[in-house]
Amino acid sequence: MSKRILLVEDEPGLVLTLSDRLASEGYHVDTARDGETGLARAEQGPFDAIILDVMLPRKNGFDVCRDLRQRGINTPILMLTARGQVVDKVIGLKLGADDYLTKPFEMIELLARVEALLRRAPAAPAVSGDSYQFGNIKIDFRRAEVTRDDETLELSAKEFHLLRYFIEHREATISRDELLNEVWGYDAMPSTRTVDVHIAWLRQKLEPNPRHPHFILTVHGMGYKFIG
Ligand code: CA
Repeated sequence: MSKRILLVEDEPGLVLTLSDRLASEGYHVDTARDGETGLARAEQGPFDAIILDVMLPRKNGFDVCRDLRQRGINTPILMLTARGQVVDKVIGLKLGADDYLTKPFEMIELLARVEALLRRAPAAPAVSGDSYQFGNIKIDFRRAEVTRDDETLELSAKEFHLLRYFIEHREATISRDELLNEVWGYDAMPSTRTVDVHIAWLRQKLEPNPRHPHFILTVHGMGYKFIG
């Protein structure tokens, strides 16, 4: 499947050149011409990488980057900064960008940076002992406690087991039947609909925008996949 890239850039010429070239390299490219739209698209995601200009109408790239990270969206971001603005690069990286490129740049340089971002192993899961963290959610397995920004979330035992199973099998597509067997157990006789209902509840509690989930994804015709 081709990698999806979101390009947030307002210069029409650059948008055209970049999206053409990225498409010819086999990427699927979505574009947004201002910061607000870029943020909304990125939230709807998922994307494999975001190319984000700093100087944008409506909302600048720094604010977009900060908002995305605050909402727990960890898609790799390559920021495009203006020439000589060393401070841009520092701010960008501080706000959670993964790399930056100074304008004007050679196309080949941009492609190399994008490839490097995509190749980079997904951030090592933040597991330390009996805890796990994704986005702004933290799970303490021993205490069976889930917090968001240090605020405790009330999860039922079933929701907690479901979340744990997802984390243990992150990035794998898991069928509803597998979830029923593994989380509910062979003896239980709930329907796959039960799984969907519990997933919806979990999303309500964990996802920044439950209607456009970023962590618990639906894989159509297959089941679910946890990314985090
Ligand atoms: Ca610009």
